[in-house]
Amino acid sequence: MIPKDHPRYESLVLRARIVEASKAGILADSAMIAHGRGEAFDYLIGEKTTQNAKEAVKAAAAALILAEHPVVSVNGNTTALVSEDIVRLSNTLKAPIEINLFYRTPQRVEKIEKILKEKGAKNVLGVENEKKGLIKGLKGPRANASFEGVYKADVVLVPLEDGDRAEALVANGKTVITIDLNPLSRTAKTSFVTIVDNVVRAIPLITEEVKKLRNCDETELRNILNNFDNSLNLEKSLKIISKTYADEKP
Ligand code: ATP
Repeated sequence: MIPKDHPRYESLVLRARIVEASKAGILADSAMIAHGRGEAFDYLIGEKTTQNAKEAVKAAAAALILAEHPVVSVNGNTTALVSEDIVRLSNTLKAPIEINLFYRTPQRVEKIEKILKEKGAKNVLGVENEKKGLIKGLKGPRANASFEGVYKADVVLVPLEDGDRAEALVANGKTVITIDLNPLSRTAKTSFVTIVDNVVRAIPLITEEVKKLRNCDETELRNILNNFDNSLNLEKSLKIISKTYADEKP
């Protein structure tokens, strides 16, 4: 039991979720390393949602509302950390969830599907024996996408994606939205909208923003998107990281 007054309580709770999920067999061995990299960047941005992350959340919500076929992609870490909120977002958008694993095994896919369905997911794609389409520019199993999901989608929310796949999705004409604590990652730089925030904070905020914006007219939503500049937004995150250090007294 982690004591609630522990100064690193939130962070330790997330670690515990990752450890549990790893024991339950839903994560690849490298998942803890990916989590650790995220944790380090979270520490650097102050472990809270920044103003510029909120701006990115708004742009992400606008893009998802405007989409004809939005899809929410999940991997093992996202499922371990925020499955309930992922399901809530997917149900709010009426968008399918697609399981997308870097090191894919049928067992892990099955376990993730079960968790999502238990939390109330209505449409889980990316499972075995499903019609697949090929994402051009990728090799091997990673090129497969669900025909009714990412393959057909115009807008994809792909938290914690790897750079190669993010680049390929963009090259295949998708509007890519990511959540990545590392503003320097290839995924962060390639995506149309990058929310530099922890997935556990960002996903519920996107759902709230979708609810707020969904009655806006198309012009207003397009204006939100047109006024969003991803490179500038990433620069703001980098400034926050360096300022935290410059202001700190030894
Ligand atoms: P890229 O291939 O895009 O250059 P990478 O090789 O660092 O980046 P991966 O290891 O494939 O990317 O994915 C892990 C990414 O997810 C890291 O950038 C890490 O910062 C980020 N990450 C890990 N945990 C979280 C989290 N809880 N919330 C948001 N981002 C996270």
